[in-house]
Amino acid sequence: MKIEKLLTEAQIQARVEEMAQEISRDFPQTNKAGKPPVALILANGAIFFAADLLRKLRFETEIQVVRVASYAGTQSNGAPEIVGGISPEKFRGRNVLVIDDVLDTGHTLAKVREHLCAAGAEDVRICVLLDKPSRRVVPGQADYVGFSIDDVFVVGYGLDLDDAWRTLPYVGIVKE
Ligand code: 5GP
Ligand code: MG
Repeated sequence: MKIEKLLTEAQIQARVEEMAQEISRDFPQTNKAGKPPVALILANGAIFFAADLLRKLRFETEIQVVRVASYAGTQSNGAPEIVGGISPEKFRGRNVLVIDDVLDTGHTLAKVREHLCAAGAEDVRICVLLDKPSRRVVPGQADYVGFSIDDVFVVGYGLDLDDAWRTLPYVGIVKE
């Protein structure tokens, strides 16, 4: 298998810095009770993106991590599951920045948003490294998008193919 580079490490880091500046200007930095935002990281795919982004924000966040599983190989089964669930005591009344790797069909983020609303989150905003608008099944957009890409399966910078390629510092397309 070969990986064809799509986004270089330098491109990713520059864009993450821009996103951090935008979020730092834009995001409500305390809730009504004066508490800081919660960053909800969707693992495993978003771990490197979140680690880079959150350290560049000009404000502190509390970190929560959930695992969302729906992919086997390059196919989503369309029914993402939030492993362990989203517990209301961590999110009620809070401003939440959801961080994911790819917005694809939209199933995952719709489900996460629904659970956060049910948990009583005050403000929910979605931040993704990559968006594939042509793949959308569930309508909806992210509030912050790193790069819009075509309908290609990518790996690296946290993204995997059956657990391989995650630790590449760049994003590339898998060529058979
Ligand atoms: P959705 O529920 O929006 O269809 O799927 C989103 C999830 O599918 C992402 O969080 C990501 O884990 C996975 N995904 C979608 N496209 C890709 C891709 O090109 N590469 C990898 N590795 N995962 C992807
Ligand atoms: Mg994911």
